[in-house]
Amino acid sequence: DNASKVKLIGNIQNDSIGRKFNNLDFPHCREMLNIFRMKFGLHQFRPNQLSAINAAILGYDCFILMPTGGGKSLCYQLPALISLGITIVISPLRSLIIDQIQKLSSLDIPAMYLTADLSDEQVYRVFRKLHETSSDLKLLYVTPEKLSMSTKFCRSLDALYQRRKLARFVIDEVHCVSQWGHDFRPDYKKLCVLKENFPDVPIVVLTATATRRVRSDILHQLHLHSPMWFISSFNRPNLRYSVIPKKTRAACQQIVDIIKSKFPKECGIVYCITRKDCDDHAKALFMKGIEALSYHAGLDDKVRIERQSQWISEKVKVICATIAFGMGIDKPNVRFVIHSSIPKSIEGYYQESGRAGRDGDAADCLLLYNYADMHRYRNIMERNDYANVEALKTHLDNLYKIVHFCENLTDCRRALQLNYFGEKFDRQECIVNSETTCDNCRTYDKFQNMDVTDDAKALVKLIQSLNNVRKNNVTILQVVDIYKGSNISSISYKLGYNYHEWFGRGKSMTKCEIERLLHNLVIEGYLCENMELNNGMICAYVAPGQLANELLYHSNVQIFIQKKRTPENITTEGSRVQISAVANAELKELEQRCYGELFDMVNGIAGALD
Ligand code: ADP
Ligand code: MG
Ligand code: ZN
Repeated sequence: DNASKVKLIGNIQNDSIGRKFNNLDFPHCREMLNIFRMKFGLHQFRPNQLSAINAAILGYDCFILMPTGGGKSLCYQLPALISLGITIVISPLRSLIIDQIQKLSSLDIPAMYLTADLSDEQVYRVFRKLHETSSDLKLLYVTPEKLSMSTKFCRSLDALYQRRKLARFVIDEVHCVSQWGHDFRPDYKKLCVLKENFPDVPIVVLTATATRRVRSDILHQLHLHSPMWFISSFNRPNLRYSVIPKKTRAACQQIVDIIKSKFPKECGIVYCITRKDCDDHAKALFMKGIEALSYHAGLDDKVRIERQSQWISEKVKVICATIAFGMGIDKPNVRFVIHSSIPKSIEGYYQESGRAGRDGDAADCLLLYNYADMHRYRNIMERNDYANVEALKTHLDNLYKIVHFCENLTDCRRALQLNYFGEKFDRQECIVNSETTCDNCRTYDKFQNMDVTDDAKALVKLIQSLNNVRKNNVTILQVVDIYKGSNISSISYKLGYNYHEWFGRGKSMTKCEIERLLHNLVIEGYLCENMELNNGMICAYVAPGQLANELLYHSNVQIFIQKKRTPENITTEGSRVQISAVANAELKELEQRCYGELFDMVNGIAGALD
């Protein structure tokens, strides 16, 4: 039942709904247009705004999905001014609320808010407004805990409801309702009481991010039965995407070099996994003459607010932050977002990288990738979620998907992200103003998918065999050496002689290819990695995964990896590329994008702890 629901939502065809409401023939439209122009000072609707506004005014429940900056606020603010009564807007953060209130009051639109930090006097004024019989108040912003904690507020809502003065509920950033989303807030879960207590008050929910799973969870949590859907494209044409191999031992210097060469005077964000990373990176940047500050949940509120405003006012150009930074920050001219380590999900990546280029001008999203960072993340997750198997599974799954994204060398970065949100994307659109805007589209014809099923089977058997002798003590890098046939004495010393059958069998592959194939097998579940702590270092040992036998004994499983094209493996006439000595060097560099620093790493050491 749940699965079919998800499918249904996933297949929603927005077009018919859009067409139904996308006109100016409704009786309210004259007044609505007037307010649109005179109050808001706007001239043209953005995609889906007109339809969503009409549907809301007509009293439908609406589910509005638009990318950040798409203009969601107007979709409830304009209806609020047309409808009788007060619109209650639930928003997760005080900063978001203040921002909206300021905008509205600059437009001379009557709006108030209730947050925890108001003085008694201010609170009193709000409640008095709510109880006035002929109140001019149109919008009231509240944080979600007001609904769950303040009985006084709930009583006021009841009174408004009795007087038929409750125009509509609006839930902004509604993905916070779902624990599958990237920003779950427990107080949002309690918003299910809205439909229960006020069944005939319409609800408008808005978010800039929601996978199918999150979408269906939102409906379920909020008891929304059949809202009208307004789903805009999530493509951000002005953002350029690249995944870059991370110089694990010199990541700070790498970031310094990138900023100095590409964005010397620009504003940007460097996202980091841990607080220590933030501090280290900010310090390194600062030492090299780049004004930078760190920002994370470990700092005092006061310090955080101070640093945030220094960055917003551009006293400091670069902020090195954990993902605690960003929501509700609407700085238009962020020219770059660098992920110094992998994000924890594709959705998170979309959100975080999406903080670049809000002004519509070109901006860069650079992701520094190595496989070892996945282990660091996994380790943190396993410590945090050790009691919650289900949550851990979801997090790991999300993590593997972003690893897969990073290791992908052929598919359009935009298409990969947008498909994840259920949106189709034509790769041709990655070319914007005759510039190709993602790394994979730029190198489109340099790689091709190759069937490596036989190698995959051999590798799984090799790992089975090694695990039969000494359980759980072989690393991916050791397996690469064996399969490639490297003469590393530590292998036989450590592992005994159980690998000879496979030694050097993958001679024709590059180490990089073998490593990527192994990563792929882990992500697909044919192999698994077990994490252990040795002397404060995380070690990941590879073992057969749950699906190992599926691969070995079911002939229909095929495994592909993306290999660089060489003259021998170019088959189709149309895609022929000249391979010169120079091009080969370039290809080598490209390939390195997915190659962890094999020689730089001690066996199995995946990264130091937080
Ligand atoms: P979202 O909540 O979707 O991130 P906002 O509602 O905050 O986006 O709107 C982003 C910006 O776009 C705001 O500055 C807003 O004034 C502006 N905007 C919204 N709709 C329009 C429009 N139809 N024409 C011009 N500007 C608009
Ligand atoms: Mg918004
Ligand atoms: Zn592309």
